[in-house]
Order: sequence, then structure tokens, then C-alpha cells
Amino acid sequence: MQLDWYLAPFALATLLAWGVAVVAWRRRQTPGALALAVVMLGVGLWSAMDFGQWAVTEPALLRGFDRALYLGVVLAPPGLVALAQDLTGHGERLTGRLLALFAIEPLAVQLVLWTPELGHLFLARLQVQPGSPVELAVTYGPLFWVHSLYSYALILWALVTVARARRHASPLLRRQLGTVLAAALPPVLANGLTLFEARTQLALLRNLDLTPLGFALTGPILAWALFGQGMFDLVPVARDRVLELVRDAVLVVDRQGRLTDANPAADELLRLVDPGLPPRLAGQRLETLLATWPPGARRSLATLRQAPAADELRLPTPSGLRRFELRRSPLSDRRGRVLGELLVLHDETERLAAQEALAQANADLQRQLATVAELQARLAEQAIRDPLTNAYNRRFLDRALEEHLAEAQERGTGLSLVFVDLDHFKALNDTCGHATGDQVLVAVTRLLDRGARSGDLVCRYGGEELVVLLPGTPKATALARAEQWRRQLHQLRVPAAGPNSGPQVTASFGVASLPEDACSASALLAAADAALYAAKRAGRDRVVAAGLTATNAAP
Ligand code: GH3
Ligand code: MG
Ligand code: MG
Repeated sequence: MQLDWYLAPFALATLLAWGVAVVAWRRRQTPGALALAVVMLGVGLWSAMDFGQWAVTEPALLRGFDRALYLGVVLAPPGLVALAQDLTGHGERLTGRLLALFAIEPLAVQLVLWTPELGHLFLARLQVQPGSPVELAVTYGPLFWVHSLYSYALILWALVTVARARRHASPLLRRQLGTVLAAALPPVLANGLTLFEARTQLALLRNLDLTPLGFALTGPILAWALFGQGMFDLVPVARDRVLELVRDAVLVVDRQGRLTDANPAADELLRLVDPGLPPRLAGQRLETLLATWPPGARRSLATLRQAPAADELRLPTPSGLRRFELRRSPLSDRRGRVLGELLVLHDETERLAAQEALAQANADLQRQLATVAELQARLAEQAIRDPLTNAYNRRFLDRALEEHLAEAQERGTGLSLVFVDLDHFKALNDTCGHATGDQVLVAVTRLLDRGARSGDLVCRYGGEELVVLLPGTPKATALARAEQWRRQLHQLRVPAAGPNSGPQVTASFGVASLPEDACSASALLAAADAALYAAKRAGRDRVVAAGLTATNAAP
């Protein structure tokens, strides 16, 4: 044995590498961790063998260690490729076939190294140089350079993978991948230096193989990137938690229609519908699990579909009918092959019930509003109409008269008012009865209405007195209209009277107009009223214009 200070780094590197390997193995769920464990196992082996090679003096042992170190060397490059793939989200590329391909080169190296006839192709000469310390002068064979080239190619592949992923990564991930790239520097520099030494025979650092030392430094940096900076650790955990907490039922079904995952809400729902389900649902055919479901719901859930779609689903449960929105999403791998389907059932029962109750309440309210509006309109109409004749009442006349008067004065247009009073109506009531009197009142109003033009207003002023307001009508026209009405009244027959009893209904008319007879509503009414009384005094059944004392109509 020859122990010296320069062996210490190799011992440390071994401990460090294997320490990292253990940590990575323990956290192998994290993407890249398992690959890191393999790389570090190799690096530890490598530096341990280096240590051994320098620590012993026995030539056979020395040669043995030098060959054995390649057991570790060959693990690092493919391990790094796997690490890069896994870390950048391409874990599924690490198929069994690829891993088998990766195994070829390490096995071939071992075969060559340990076969006496071939060994020289890799290590051309292993010359033990006696002295202090005893050293091993190594001359590499052609296969060593092939191996080195291959290893560098793999490492380059790993670096390119990480660098490319880093370009499109989120800031957090970019930092992590940057650290991974930086971690490649120590071994590359160390290996470069070692190869340079070997090529130039300069023996700057006693021909020590520095590469495992560089790799040993890489270990903690990578571990930090993976476990310290990595968000990968957190994301799957968080996703699992979300699935556990979310109240939607989430089911994952594979291409064969088997349930591969169900969150607690889905488990609960399935058991709510069918309490007899077995304890373990995963692995069962979904169709079987839904045996007690209504056929429609079962079909929409258990039928694999390519396109994303949403369905409404009604499900009878012991607590009543529940309604779900079913959203489905095909799950496919990177090449677009459908692997299965994700089903999400969102319970819409309460929301839909509330929505429907609201719609119902709204409809009721609308109906009530319509009723109220109708009542209001009727009330408003009633407020301005006389119930017997349906003519406008006096209250309405008062308002309308003021408005039309103001308008007529403003525009300088005419406005006439005809006051009508039935003659001897008391006598008609007395002879034919009050009911007949009412009928006559209705008939007279209708007659006036027929003769009125649009815009004219027929009002019952009170008792058997009626007023017709004629906006925009000059006095002469109003007089002519009144005369026309007076004549038409003669045709009116009272049902209770005999067939040839002559005209039973006559009326007297007083006509007043704006601007000649008055300039206010009350004055206009008074003028028409005065004219009406003049007509009465003159013998009834006639039309008298305001301002005239003589009659202008014959009985
Ligand atoms: P004059 O020719 O002077 O107008 O005689 P008159 O009888 O028509 O006048 P008077 O004022 O003496 O009587 C009016 C009558 O009208 C009294 C009342 O019985 C009758 N009358 C008033 N309102 C109504 C009603 O709503 N229905 C019926 N049937 N009669 C009514
Ligand atoms: Mg009267
Ligand atoms: Mg009268």
C-alpha cells in the first residue's frame, strides 16, 4: 500500500458520489432522480477504483483496478442521457429497448477489457513503473478512443436535450435546467485535462484521472437542481391533492374500458349509486361498476369517444335524483395514440335547481306584473270613464278641456264645446222606468260617439247631460254637427214605448267656441250651458249657439 495526500480527493469523491446516489435513490419518484442515482453509483465506483489503483503497489492488483474502473465509467454517459430525458419531461422515451441499447456499449467494454486477447485493443499497454509512488503508465488502444467518442456523443446528446428544453421552459424550470447544464462543466473540464495529459504525456498532475473528481462535483449540483430547485417534486403532489380535494368526480379509464383511477369524490359517487361495490375499484371494468346505473348514463360514461364532449347526466341516488355535467377528455401520448379517457362529473343538481327556481319565480313575477299592469290600465280607464255609458267622465273632461284649451290658444286653432241635455228625461223615466232611461242614455252616448271624429271627446257631464269636446273645430262646423245629432236622435226608438209613438228622445244643444265665446275652460262651459238653457227656454229639441238669445233651430 502507498497512501499519499493526492488520494484523499478520490476517497472524498467516492463518498460524495455514493452519498448523492443514496439520496437520489431515496427520492427516485422525482424525475431524473433514478438516473442520477445510476450516474453517481458509476462515478463512485470509478473514483473508488482510481483510489485503489493508486493505493496499491502489487502490479496484478493495479491492473485489476484499472480495468474495474470502467465498470463505473460506462454508467455515467447513458445515465446522463436518461436523466436529461426524464427531467425534460420525456421520461416515456426511456423504453426498455432504448435501455437495452444503452447496455450494449458498457457490456462490450467489459468484454473487451476482461478478455486477454482483446484487452490490448482498449488499453494497449499497462506498464507498472516501479518507484515511489509505483505508477501505471497507460497507453490507450483504438477501442478506448471509440469508447470516449461514444461517451462524449451521449453526454452531448444529454446537454442538447436540456439546452433545447431550457429555451422554451418557464422561468423557474429554466433556472433549474441552467443549473443542470452548469453541472456538466466540472467533469468535462476534468476529462479534457486528463485526456490532454494522456495525449501530450506531460504528466502535469501525475497522470491522475480527474474526471471522477469532476463528476463527483456534478453530483451535488444535480441533486440540488433536482430536489432543491425542482418544482417537479411539488407538482405531482399538488395535483394528487387537488384530485383528492376537488368535489367533482374524476375517473380515468384506459382504452380497454378499465377504471385506472378514481378520486375520492368519484369513489363516493360510485358507492352512493351502488353500495355493493367491491373495496378496490381500480382495475375493474367501468361497465361492470356502472351495472346499476340507468342505461343512458351508463352508455355515456362507459363509451370511449375520441372527441371532447359534454353530456348531461341524470342519476337516481338514495338522496334523490342528481344531475351532473359530464366532461370527457381523451388521454393520449405524445404521438397522439389514445391511451384512455378522463371523465369529470360535476354535480349540477343544486345549481340547476336554484336556476330553475329562479326562472320560475321570475316567470311568476312577470305574470304578476302583467296582471298588475292590466289592473292598473283598467283602473286608469275606470277612473276616467263613466260606468254606465262608458263615455269619459267629468273629471276627465275637466282635465282634457284645460289641456286642449291651452293647446288651442297656443296654436291659434279653434275649439268647440257642445252641451247636450235630454229633454223631459224625468218624464221618460217616470213612464218607461229607470232601466229604460239607462238604455236611452247608453244609446244616446253611442250615437254621439258614432258622429264624433277622432280626437273628439264624448263625456257624461252628469245625470242626463253630456258634453262633446271638439278640438280644432270652428263654431260653424260644431253647430252643424250638433244639428246632425239632434236630427239623428229623432230616429232613436225607446224599446218600451209603442212602435208608432213618434220621436221619444229629443235633446237640447248649446254650442260655444274658442276664441269667440270664452278664453277659459269654465267660461267656455258656462257659455255652452247658457246656450243650452236658452235652447230649453226656446222650447227644447234645438241647437243654440252661445251669444245668441234667439233660437236658430226649429223643433
Ligand atoms: P228638462 O227637459 O228640463 O231637462 O227636463 P228633465 O226632466 O230632463 O230634467 P230634470 O233635471 O228635471 O230631470 C233629470 C232627470 O234625469 C232626473 C233623473 O231621474 C234623470 N236621471 C239622471 N241621471 C239618470 C240616470 O243615470 N239614469 C236614469 N234612468 N235617469 C237619470
Ligand atoms: Mg238636466
Ligand atoms: Mg233634461
